[in-house]
Amino acid sequence: MEPEQRMARKTCYCSTCKKWYHPMGIARHRAMHRDKREDCTIRFTRGDTYTWKYSASEPTDAKP
Ligand SMILES: [Zn+2]
Repeated sequence: MEPEQRMARKTCYCSTCKKWYHPMGIARHRAMHRDKREDCTIRFTRGDTYTWKYSASEPTDAKP
């Protein structure tokens, strides 16, 4: 675990941006990708990983 991640309690990782995000902010971050129609892959606190293909699919707000 990187120091920045531990200090800020950022436990969600966006593989698309290669950045860590706080669990409270990851939903907004994913919405940003959705708005930009970008694919995004996000790993959540428990290690579960989801990929959203916003570039290829109809605009939806599917949640895991
Ligand atoms: Zn991202």
